[in-house]
This record gives sequence, structure tokens and C-alpha cells, in this order.
Amino acid sequence: MPALLVIGDVCLCEYTDHGHCGVIQEGEVDNDASVYLLGKVAVAQARAGVDIVAPSDMMDGRVAGIRRALDAAGFSHMPIMSYAAKMASAFYGPFREAAGSAPQFGDRRSYQMPGTNADEAMKEIRLDVAEGADIILVKPALPCLDLIRRAKDEVGSPLAAYQVSGEYAMIKAAGERGMVDEERAMWETLYAIRRAGADIILSYFAPTAAEQL
Ligand SMILES: [Zn+2]
Repeated sequence: MPALLVIGDVCLCEYTDHGHCGVIQEGEVDNDASVYLLGKVAVAQARAGVDIVAPSDMMDGRVAGIRRALDAAGFSHMPIMSYAAKMASAFYGPFREAAGSAPQFGDRRSYQMPGTNADEAMKEIRLDVAEGADIILVKPALPCLDLIRRAKDEVGSPLAAYQVSGEYAMIKAAGERGMVDEERAMWETLYAIRRAGADIILSYFAPTAAEQL
């Protein structure tokens, strides 16, 4: 399908038996070892033909590390979409179950940002841009509309927002019970995310929305 844009999720949690996003050494995430492997994953995906690589972990320096690895492997044109502001959220649940990547010990909150600190989230976004991210992504979307707007105003485009699995499931479930009109709720949330400043929206509603566009 030549018209399809393929984005590779660059992370290690799908490949670790413990479900964490990095290499664990003596009970701790080893940041640098993880960044080294993330660079290798990104290059493997580039060779396999993705159009964009998207690091979804929260290791320090991973955008710069992936950029260096890609450039060294001859993929200096390959764009990086970084999950720059990944807020701790109750809405990631359904995906983790489906991906079988629920952490076996601890949780991921240590490398997600608490929802109470918008300035910290903006700092992470600016860091990723400084490291060479071509597209920055904020998730979840609806609980973070303020961050999407701030990122748009303060950093500019391109800016992506991820309407995550729990946001989708919430509307689906309420629709199935006849509590809301699913289609109208879908559009209302997509418009809100767009209005907040997202240039790109990642959503489980994509096939439904695309049919109606
Ligand atoms: Zn991960």
C-alpha cells in the first residue's frame, strides 16, 4: 500500500519479559544501555521501510541517540516523532492489556510525568526539539488539551496528539450503552484536539473518521 504512511513505535517494552521500556540492571532502568538499543531499533525499522520513527519511551537523551544512530546508518532524512509529553494517565489501560506489556513489577509512572506539572511537560517538549525531534507528540489528548495548545504556541508545528485507547474505549462503551451518541462524541473530541492545536491526531477512531471525511 504505497499511500500508507508507516510510523514505527520505537520502544523496548514489547520485547522485554518484564514489560518495562528499558534495560533493567539490578532493579533499575539503565538509561544509556536503553538509548543504545533504541538507536538500533530505529535503524532496523528504517531499513524495514518505515516513513517515521516514533520513540515512545521516556529515556533521557533518546532523541539525540536515535538521531545519531539513524544518521550514521545513512538515514539522515528519516523523521523522528517523539512522544515528548507522555503524561501519567488512567487512559492507557486497554492498550497495555492488548499489547501484553503491562509491567510485571513496579509501574511506568516513574517515567511518565505527573499531570500536575505543565511546566515540566513543556521542558520535556523543548528538550526533545533541541535534541532533533521533527514532530512532537502529546498524550493522552483530551486530558492534555492545555499542553497541546501551549506546545503549539511555544514550540510550533508539527505537533501530534494521541487519543489513547482508554479515551477511545470510554466513548465506545458509553455509545454501546446508549449514554452518548458515539459518532458525535468522536467528532467532538477530534475537533477539540484539533482546535487545541494538533496538526496530527493519532486515534483508534482513525478508520471510522477517515471513512466520513
Ligand atoms: Zn514502552
